[in-house]
Amino acid sequence: MEKICVAVRVRPRISEDSFGGNFWKVEENRISLHKVHGTPLSAYSYAFDHVFDESSTNASVYDLLTKDIINAAVEGFNGTAFAYGQTSSGKTYTMNGSETDPGIIPRAVEDIFRKIQMASDREFLIRVSYMEIYNEEINDLLVVENQKLQIHESLERGIFVAGLRQEIVNNAEQVLNLIKAGEVNRHFGETNMNARSSRSHTIFRMVIESKGKDSNSCDHMTSDAVRVSVLNLVDLAGSERIAKTGADGVRLKEGKHINKSLMILGNVINKLSEGSKQRGHIPYRDSKLTRILQPALGGNAKTSIVCTIAPEEVHIEETKGTLQFASRAK
Ligand code: ADP
Ligand code: MG
Repeated sequence: MEKICVAVRVRPRISEDSFGGNFWKVEENRISLHKVHGTPLSAYSYAFDHVFDESSTNASVYDLLTKDIINAAVEGFNGTAFAYGQTSSGKTYTMNGSETDPGIIPRAVEDIFRKIQMASDREFLIRVSYMEIYNEEINDLLVVENQKLQIHESLERGIFVAGLRQEIVNNAEQVLNLIKAGEVNRHFGETNMNARSSRSHTIFRMVIESKGKDSNSCDHMTSDAVRVSVLNLVDLAGSERIAKTGADGVRLKEGKHINKSLMILGNVINKLSEGSKQRGHIPYRDSKLTRILQPALGGNAKTSIVCTIAPEEVHIEETKGTLQFASRAK
């Protein structure tokens, strides 16, 4: 069982905080709630594999947290990288990035194609899928209409989303264009926390298949072996509790689905990070998210989670919740 790598990232301040002070203090791989209304506190202090402060870049997050997963994926190992956190804490910024500092997804895509070019002894086939789970319904983001896809399981294919589009891709640019097209199909909802807060989980998936090129090679037994790996890069729905958004009927339903699936994800990850002996039953089947990710979550799959937090005082309670989630994942 691979250890799950857990990191926390503090986004820079967006709004002016009336108290102005830094409530969260980052020291190496530790984050602490420093003070509230000027009063120092020591009760909230957590250590993680990495803590990225407000000045961190997507480049450093990628290098320290995700690069190994990408390398392993090209070598044939499954992997999953998550961004978890409340709306506006920087999940999408971390996954997608900006013009000047691309996020985990574009960096992973570039890296994969770079590595494939260098692996001249193997032939690769790369397929990309992009899907969203909204209200426990699965939509294919590479297709315009919503389809409510179903999860199936077979001996041949294992667990799979029936009818999900898999685009064969040959270069990074092609993939980035597919993602852009897919973004347009995402579900957005208006809440009074954030005008366009994301209420769905998004799973960007690459399936990397390879086999040895030279069938006349002396050791064709090994060079010909087909390797298939699945890499999931997941931008989770906002983890904030429902009451805060002053939810009406639709928002309330969304919020309940989100809270439930994030709780189940937390349970699954918590089970996985416990020692193999005490682990027992892992409740993958309890939500669509964990069911879809199951083949690349646990076992010898590599997993990382970046928990993003907002530094402002108004978000302290949500931030505590996020750090609690993060510390359960360790
Ligand atoms: P989320 O996806 O968690 O709702 P976003 O990624 O959309 O949050 O971030 C909210 C806002 O903060 C966006 O305008 C984003 O560009 C900005 N932001 C988030 N993290 C950073 C960062 N590390 N550096 C600069 N801007 C950031
Ligand atoms: Mg987002």
